[in-house]
Order: sequence, then C-alpha cells, then structure tokens
Amino acid sequence: MKTIGLIGGMSWESSALYYRIINERVREKLGGLHSSRSILYSVDFSEIEELQHSGRWDETTEILAEAAGSLERAGAHFFLICTNTMHIKADEIEARVQIPLLHIADATGERLRAEGLHRVGLLGTRFTMEKDFYRGRLSDRYALDVLIPPEEDREIVHRVIYNELCRGVVNSSSREAYRQIIKGLVRRGAEGIILGCTEIGMLVGQQESLVPVFDTTRIHASAAVDLALDEQQGPSSP
Ligand code: GLU
Repeated sequence: MKTIGLIGGMSWESSALYYRIINERVREKLGGLHSSRSILYSVDFSEIEELQHSGRWDETTEILAEAAGSLERAGAHFFLICTNTMHIKADEIEARVQIPLLHIADATGERLRAEGLHRVGLLGTRFTMEKDFYRGRLSDRYALDVLIPPEEDREIVHRVIYNELCRGVVNSSSREAYRQIIKGLVRRGAEGIILGCTEIGMLVGQQESLVPVFDTTRIHASAAVDLALDEQQGPSSP
C-alpha cells in the first residue's frame, strides 16, 4: 500500500471527511483492521482565506508548496490538495516536489466521463466557478460543458461556503437556497451537478437534486485509495 499525503485544513471540516472516507474505503477493500497509510499536513485556514480574498495567490503557493515538501520528506508517495479552490496553484505546487499530485478535477473528470455525462452544473467557491483553472481543465481534458449559476446565486454559494460550512455550520435555509440553485442548473440542461467544494457535501446530497450529484470530496478521497492500492493508473494521465 502506498502512503497518501494530504494537504488539509481548507477547511478542517472537509479534511476530517477525507480521513474518514479514505479509511472506510480501505477497510471496505481490504477488510479486517486494515486502514490507510497516510500523512496529513493541516494548514491554518484563516491565513489562506485572507490571502485568497486579497488576491495574493502566490503567497498561498509558498505555504502549500512547503506543505507538499514536508509530506514528501515524511514519505508520502503522492499527494492530494484537499480543496478544489487551491488547485488554482496546483501546477506550481506540484512542480516544487518530486512526488505526483492527484488532481481533484482529474478524479472528477474521469468519473463524469465514465458516467457518460456531457453537460454538468458546477457549485463551488467564486474562484472555482469563475476562474478557468477548474472548468477549463474539465472541458479541455474531459470534453465537458460546464454550467455555473448566475452571478447572484454564485454569491450565495460562495458566502455559505466561507461563512457557514467552513465554520461547521449547516443551515436548512442555505440547503433550500442550494436546492433552488441546483434546480436552475438542471433547467438549463445540466445532466449532473458537481459539488465542487469539499464542504458542500455537508449541506446537500442526492436528495436535493433531480440529476446525479458528484461530491468531489468523496470522488477525490476514493481515487486516492485506488491509487494507493494500485487499482488506478498514474494520477496525471491527461
Ligand atoms: N474547501 C473548499 C473547496 O473545495 C473551499 C475552501 C478553500 O477555499 O480552499 O474549494
């Protein structure tokens, strides 16, 4: 079994989910008392969030590259960045270490392609929904047509992530708001919904959507186990 390196803390609410999902999946596959070999480097999210919202992305790269280096030195065979948003700097972070990154959009794109989807709705932070690093990768590498909610809905999705979910707050009125936003995406032709933020699964699931929901936390964590157990090809196959 390979050792999984996890850069977490963004937020720790979702890192805790990763840890659980990874270990449950190892137990499911190997049985008995088996659990994952893994190393978690957890950052202080307050620092990261401040840099994100002031556009100081290069400084986030330094923090996460340092974390990746620590995981490498500690013996991780490959690593995950346990947040969709911080994949904005994925290439630069990966370039600073020898071990490969298992990219969250690749794990998600592979899954969507396997399910035969063409048009999908994306929920995530404003950065993930609006910038090209995530949607672009899904469309270039996996031929997916990615829909995002209109401006005012993006604002709601983003606010709920930072003001509620990352603080461990799960609110039924926010769930209802998300349900309506998902409905709007389905009306525009989405055949599936990507929960493209690692905390959204705390708020909504399949019951909030008429089309299949793809939780990136679950997909990413499961892909890590498959790779650790050698059930998957290398992480960066285009
Ligand atoms: N965990 C979230 C994501 O998947 C948001 C937190 C962050 O900004 O990293 O994008």
